[in-house]
Amino acid sequence: TLLNLENFCNELIDILQLNAGSQHSIVFTFQGESTQAQMDEDLLNCILTNLISNAIKYSPQNHTIWFDLICKDRLATFQVRDQGMGIPLKDQTRLFQTFYRASNVGVIQGTGLGLTIVKKCVELHGGHIQLESEPNVGTTVTVTLPLQ
Ligand code: ATP
Ligand code: MG
Repeated sequence: TLLNLENFCNELIDILQLNAGSQHSIVFTFQGESTQAQMDEDLLNCILTNLISNAIKYSPQNHTIWFDLICKDRLATFQVRDQGMGIPLKDQTRLFQTFYRASNVGVIQGTGLGLTIVKKCVELHGGHIQLESEPNVGTTVTVTLPLQ
């Protein structure tokens, strides 16, 4: 379907913010030309919901989650950034494997499937995904999708 990405992200953030309650605030920033994009709504929803849910789940209460969308040069860049627990370097390359969870998750529950599914969705859209993280500092996940 033809989506207005800025509106789509605003609506999604409203829902995720309601779910998060007052524990975390999600700050959305849009840059670039507001564009209509030919994208699969369910795939995009799956990608962003998983990334933002992770940012919330692996961050302490009262920490902000930043979500930026940049549309330019026929590319949409979605960036989700948190100041949570981060991921040890030795675990970082394996996070996209089915059921893999980092060694520092402690009592936080999860199945280890989210990022595996996200990566599949990104590839189905011809995009790519990059993760940067530092333990006790935070995590940034960047997804780039072509705006065809
Ligand atoms: P679920 O399948 O319910 O999403 P999950 O969150 O454990 O379970 P993934 O979303 O695939 O699984 O993430 C894999 C692992 O990557 C997590 O278990 C966690 O160790 C680490 N991780 C992912 N996102 C973050 C983040 N924002 N901050 C810290 N660790 C993260
Ligand atoms: Mg997850």
